[in-house]
Amino acid sequence: MAVLKIVTWPNPILENPADPVTKFDDDLRKLADDMFETMYAAPGVGLAGVQVGIAKRLFVMDCSGGKDKSSRYFMANPEIILQEGKQDGEEGCLSIPGIDSKVQRSMRVIARGHDLKGKEFEIEGIELEGRCLLHETDHCDGILYVNRITPLKREIVKRKIRKLQKAGEWPE
Ligand SMILES: [Zn+2]
Repeated sequence: MAVLKIVTWPNPILENPADPVTKFDDDLRKLADDMFETMYAAPGVGLAGVQVGIAKRLFVMDCSGGKDKSSRYFMANPEIILQEGKQDGEEGCLSIPGIDSKVQRSMRVIARGHDLKGKEFEIEGIELEGRCLLHETDHCDGILYVNRITPLKREIVKRKIRKLQKAGEWPE
């Protein structure tokens, strides 16, 4: 397993819809293993293919941070099939490291997609898991959390990034 390089904003791969996963082979399993390793090392609770430079609709997530095996998910071709309720909370992204913003999301979410064998399955997430399912599915559609906040808040995030870029402290 290997820790992959995480792509940071404003790399254009993060703002374009990714392609469906059609091959469920050893290469995909290796990519998933590497993505789990990369996510745990970061550390983060979710990581999408586009964030490691792979323009495919897939993500890994584990809101237990590696403590609970049943929270560990790989999903390809995710689709949100149910959203219920509302939650407010701080949200971050490994591609916008160190800068969080308050993002309103649904409280309960069900996503449908494919596992590593190409078999369809569903994940139900409440609170953080629901937020994570929406955040990672957004990545597959080329949407970042900064596209889900007000223009004023987005300007604040961008200003912080520009400051870090000028100081040479923003990872390319
Ligand atoms: Zn993200």
